Amino acid sequence: MFLQILRLSSQRITPQARTMTMGWENYERELSSLNLAVKDREFLKKVFDFAAQIHAGEKRLSGEDYLTHSAAVSLKLAKLKMDRATIAAGLLHDVAETTPTSLAEIRKKFGEEIAFLVDAVTKVEKVKASGTDRALESVRKMFMAVAEDIRVVIIKLADRLHNMETADWLAPEKRERIAGETLSLYAPLAERLGMWNVKAQLEDLSMKYLYPQEYERISSEVKKIAPERERYLKKIAPQVEAELLKENIRPLELSYRAKHLYSIWQKLKRYDGDWTHLADLIALRIIVPDIKDCYAAVGIIHKLWKPVPGKFKDYIALPKPNGYQSLHTSVFTKARTMVEFQIRTPQMHREAEAGIAAHWAWSEAGKPKEGLKILGQKFNWIRQLHDWHKEFKKERSSSEELLEAFKIDFFQDRIFVLTPKGDVIDLPKGATPLDFAYHIHSEIGNRASGAKVDGRMVAFERELQSGEVVEIITQKNKRPSPEWLSLVKTNLAKNRIRRALRISPKRTFLEPEEKLVEVKIYGKSRVGFIKDITSIFAKNRINIQTLISARSGNEEAPIRVRFIPKNKAEIEKIKPKLEKIAGVKKVTTEVRS
Ligand code: MN
Repeated sequence: MFLQILRLSSQRITPQARTMTMGWENYERELSSLNLAVKDREFLKKVFDFAAQIHAGEKRLSGEDYLTHSAAVSLKLAKLKMDRATIAAGLLHDVAETTPTSLAEIRKKFGEEIAFLVDAVTKVEKVKASGTDRALESVRKMFMAVAEDIRVVIIKLADRLHNMETADWLAPEKRERIAGETLSLYAPLAERLGMWNVKAQLEDLSMKYLYPQEYERISSEVKKIAPERERYLKKIAPQVEAELLKENIRPLELSYRAKHLYSIWQKLKRYDGDWTHLADLIALRIIVPDIKDCYAAVGIIHKLWKPVPGKFKDYIALPKPNGYQSLHTSVFTKARTMVEFQIRTPQMHREAEAGIAAHWAWSEAGKPKEGLKILGQKFNWIRQLHDWHKEFKKERSSSEELLEAFKIDFFQDRIFVLTPKGDVIDLPKGATPLDFAYHIHSEIGNRASGAKVDGRMVAFERELQSGEVVEIITQKNKRPSPEWLSLVKTNLAKNRIRRALRISPKRTFLEPEEKLVEVKIYGKSRVGFIKDITSIFAKNRINIQTLISARSGNEEAPIRVRFIPKNKAEIEKIKPKLEKIAGVKKVTTEVRS
């Protein structure tokens, strides 16, 4: 039996030591603590020497050898227990920037897989646009990389983390831009991938540069409060351990988890700066051998102290969308003193720390395809992203649409609902039963005729809440209606509804009268003309499929509006209304197949 109390400093930012040169000895010393196979180490030596040769003489702004950066990124990947190809790609990730020919050499020397990773990382790097376009472009490239091979993103995260750790050397303007991008793109991505440690470090470093005053204020406050909390936890930890042992539960580890500064700041903002809500500033973490022990341990703690109502969270039965699993509970250990406990197994602990990277070691020989299959089961959203990316390519959407859509579908607050069989489905907040239906399968969505939530019939527009059991009732001949587009939240559902509504010669399930109608509106264009036209359609609750306006200079050309009428009467109803718009000379309608 061993009991280990860790210091609370592990998540805090520590200034990087600045060694001027990076030799193989330094790199290997760090590697050696990670139990890498001898043949992997020999392979990495060759890669290291090649990177050293390419970067020879190159310096970073800090004055260090460029190789210190490559080696640091590579070591971060090794510590995440990534596969050999990824660790090697970390060493080489900036090589193609230096000399374009080196990519071919990498392929020849180290194989296709490593060359692919280096090339992909280089491509994500190359963002030519500036301003908003630049932000858009980098987001788009990151998502493409997620869809292609998740390891590329993990390398980028390690790269960004080291760049943020050494950002003191950058010009303030550039530093702020990079910190902003880190906070809005890289940290949420790390969170989605369950890489909690990386996320926390990225957020704290960004905060330091973007909000230096808040950073100072909160870190000095934490320095005041934390030691006392730590002392208190140290006092009750042996008591917890003794109680667990009495019931034959052997804690493998009892340690502190300190909340990181950025998340303290966010929580303070939610509670008007009231520190009393930060009972979880430092939590007691207990690692026990198996799941049965996790639940037993919570029971023991609840018997020892009164639990705080509403604070018990079972993330084992209902994991977070990023795969996080643990039991959380808060108890009153004495009057007005709350302590949060986090209880998990060693496996859950490893996953909580490294997230998706923890799964990489499981995939056979680090093959990305097979890895993805395994990851797809655990990280549902990655599989979604794949499907979704494919669909978007078909739709030929612009990068703005793509970005917006990704932000809504993947970065918004998530809810988890359950299928009647108990599968957990992860959706953005505000999602409705139709989002759920389309998420399961296009055909379930298309044929949805009703929805039950926790056994009761609900309207399609009802917002789903976490923990609800959702059941979709389907009917063979049901079809989606255009109004559904306004009832769904996710772009996946929108795309699938749009596709189902689109008329094509091959389509058979639409009724004969449901054809696409084109209305041509002739008249003198003026400011507000199009708006007047579209508002008539809106008032009559008709969804416009496409609107084609005349090019300026071509006054004769009509404005063409296409829509799918619910019935013939609808066409007859809209025509006179359009004719009444000021400036309209003629309106024609034409049914198109
Ligand atoms: Mn780099």
